[in-house]
Amino acid sequence: MSAMIDPFGRRHVYLRLALTHRCNLNCTYCRPSGCGTVTTGPILPSGSILRLVRIFAALGICKVRLTGGEPTLRPDLPDLVSRIAAVQGIGTLALTTNGVTLGSLAAPLRRAGVENLNVSLDSLRRERFLKITGRDLLPAVLKGIGAALEAGFEPLKLNTVVMGGVNDDELLEFVELARSKPVNIRFIEYMPFRENGWSREGFVSHERMRERIERVHRLVPVGQGEHTGGVAKDFSVEGFRGQISFITPLSDVFCDRCNRLRVTADGKLKTCLFAPAGLDLAKALAREASDAAVARLILEALASKPEKHPEAEELRAGQDLPMNEIGG
Ligand code: SAM
Repeated sequence: MSAMIDPFGRRHVYLRLALTHRCNLNCTYCRPSGCGTVTTGPILPSGSILRLVRIFAALGICKVRLTGGEPTLRPDLPDLVSRIAAVQGIGTLALTTNGVTLGSLAAPLRRAGVENLNVSLDSLRRERFLKITGRDLLPAVLKGIGAALEAGFEPLKLNTVVMGGVNDDELLEFVELARSKPVNIRFIEYMPFRENGWSREGFVSHERMRERIERVHRLVPVGQGEHTGGVAKDFSVEGFRGQISFITPLSDVFCDRCNRLRVTADGKLKTCLFAPAGLDLAKALAREASDAAVARLILEALASKPEKHPEAEELRAGQDLPMNEIGG
């Protein structure tokens, strides 16, 4: 099968698979207001996921990230992980979670073959965590982070979406976590989606974050994006064990280096985070007996991947799916 190179010369090696629409948190910036914590609807069964991963691996995908919704809500997760990890060609298996269930799941997931773990955490203050997520579960997440470090996930990545007037006063507290722990704090620029509360005034660019941190700490750039497929700006902090990074989807667009594809929990292919859900892979898998025929459909879809995503204001008005459906 041919490699996945799009009309702009970008080679695709990274697949983000949403395993469920459901989430046990209800983060204000992730879901359209009022949609509640349970989103129902069909999801791809494990057999279809495995067949897809094999097809994508044959096309050149070597890194898979499992996401959601909240991927740890999928009851068959450790088993699914070990089967995906065994697919020939998959070199790196990663997972993004809110950390709520990691207290019991971190070690089994590591044993099953998850290599890289990202935990999303937007506040270290219990009241504020409750306000952002709708659940009083900060202690569970902190316990989960401890369990993940004990299980050997190193460096453990912590994803923090920085929102002006909401949690941007906690930057230094997050950086402090990297003093003695092998964690990589990744500050993410807040992205606009339909009804997710984004506003120009609440946007904090990575330059502003960096400027505030550099009032206190010396940041030393390290090989850009080596660990992330090229999208993060990585820094060490003098005297610290961990690192910090900035992810800049708005202030420093990285579309020209995009090497990723996404599959939603119900099996729709998204060639760009901000493009409408396209090819229905669930239907394609049911209809096409041969993997080669499904692969051809994927290549056809890739041929219409946009060169870059639209500007912020347009994104705010137009996104077709909330983040919990896409997986970030
Ligand atoms: N439930 C899992 C979690 O919380 O990590 C996985 C799914 S979540 C949609 C994946 C990532 O998307 C999280 O790190 C989250 O912070 C990020 N995300 C969601 N909405 C975002 C937004 N508007 N801007 C930036 N990042 C966002």
